[in-house]
Amino acid sequence: QRPLGHATAAEALKLLQQGQHQDPLPAYQPLAGYLALGGYRLLDELLIGARSIDATIHTLSESGLRGLGGAGFPLGRKWSIVRAQAAPRLMAVNIDEGEPGTFKDRYYMEREPHQFLEGMLIGAHCVAAEAIYIYLRDEYHALRQVLSEEIAALQALRSGLPTIELRRGAGAYICGEESAMIESIEGKRGWPRQRPPYVAERGLFGRPTLQHNIESLHWVRTILERGADWFSNQGRHGRKGLRSFSLSGRVNKPGVYLAPAGITAQELVDEYGGGMLAGHRLYGYFPGGASGGMLPASLANVPLDFDTLQAHDCFIGSAAVIVFSDQDSARDLALNAMEFFEHESCGQCVPCREGTQRAVELMRQPVWDQALLEDLAAVMADASICGLGQAAPNPLRCAMRYFPQEFSAGAAHE
Ligand code: SF4
Repeated sequence: QRPLGHATAAEALKLLQQGQHQDPLPAYQPLAGYLALGGYRLLDELLIGARSIDATIHTLSESGLRGLGGAGFPLGRKWSIVRAQAAPRLMAVNIDEGEPGTFKDRYYMEREPHQFLEGMLIGAHCVAAEAIYIYLRDEYHALRQVLSEEIAALQALRSGLPTIELRRGAGAYICGEESAMIESIEGKRGWPRQRPPYVAERGLFGRPTLQHNIESLHWVRTILERGADWFSNQGRHGRKGLRSFSLSGRVNKPGVYLAPAGITAQELVDEYGGGMLAGHRLYGYFPGGASGGMLPASLANVPLDFDTLQAHDCFIGSAAVIVFSDQDSARDLALNAMEFFEHESCGQCVPCREGTQRAVELMRQPVWDQALLEDLAAVMADASICGLGQAAPNPLRCAMRYFPQEFSAGAAHE
């Protein structure tokens, strides 16, 4: 079979219908290569008791490592909470990566899948999880093959590992929300749950569940080997640690960049992104994908990290920085984001289901009714069940707050 990218459109459609399409496999580090570089040594030390679980969790807590899927909950604390729940416990890993502008999980998985798998197994051991469910974005065809083969190779080499199930997502953005993902793994419609109870207390199949994104687990081995200080000493502008930024938009070198936590958007563009594209001037940026809101160029010096963007109605989320220029319109970008949320709303609750529809209608008008949109945004943010509806108004609010010139009497819109 030829890879999908090499097929004609008709051939590709036929292969898709037959379920025979495949992407070229990435040049990743296989199990033998990972073992040759000391891979799984830490896990083995834990399994034979040469390294204690308490010391492991303590080091990870001291490093300041947080959940890097979006919520930013301290990793060590999460492990301690799940470990304190009654057995049996489970683990769920989110590789659904659907936030617009985010592609870091794919980047790491296509290169070092075992770095993640070892972190995952260390986490599972520390909370004594009986089984692990990996929820993989279905569009990542090649990764599915990589993970299937590498997990099988690992299980053939090591006995006594927890059961690992690889589950395919079905393209729903909402299934990246942890409780919706859990519903989906259980075979149900991906509707977010009301909380409490939290997933750590009652998650998959009603059991206490350790839920993680890839990148959080990717760092576990390196931090345990190099020490908590190595990680926490890396920040900039008073922040601690490292973040993997998915940088895209009007920059010369879009890509995944490992940079100090707290770096600013301007520094990220200049030092990592090769500057703005020729003929483009920085006008604004999304600091955390579509849901993290957007900021103007005048706030390109704000440290990008958890907790530091809230004062500006924004959040870093999964660190997807999308840069736009003077050739773009914040108003159009906000509408585009709202159309995305309208499409992806699961429809369970009124503030989000109806709110995104009404917001799109209002935002398609030549003149925005800003007072009405503010009211609508407040209801959505306050009353929606989950983060999708709560964050959906962020780009809208930011457009009105930070780009008022686009809404002045003289501003023309089709
Ligand atoms: Fe579904 Fe939106 Fe309500 Fe979340 S906020 S439960 S996505 S309708």
